[in-house]
Amino acid sequence: MTPCTHLDQIAVARPDQVPGCEDCLAIGGRWLHLRVCRSCGHIGCCDSSPNQHASKHARASAHPIVTSVEPGEHWSYCYVDDAAFVLEGD
Ligand SMILES: [Zn+2]
Ligand SMILES: [Zn+2]
Ligand SMILES: [Zn+2]
Repeated sequence: MTPCTHLDQIAVARPDQVPGCEDCLAIGGRWLHLRVCRSCGHIGCCDSSPNQHASKHARASAHPIVTSVEPGEHWSYCYVDDAAFVLEGD
């Protein structure tokens, strides 16, 4: 059981390797940590990064769940439920 009711919106797997925040790469920005959107696979940067592309993407697209793609980190977070959890298989 997870505290999130949006698990049916997960369409993509957690990637093992990502090149970087795709929005920062486009503008020449820098990022701290990376998150993958589980609805569309968008790679964005965390809220400790200057541009906070992961949460901006979640708001703009209404995609609720991101997962950390930092090495060794497998937690997910739902913006709608404001809940963190680990998904089976991640
Ligand atoms: Zn949720
Ligand atoms: Zn970014
Ligand atoms: Zn998305």
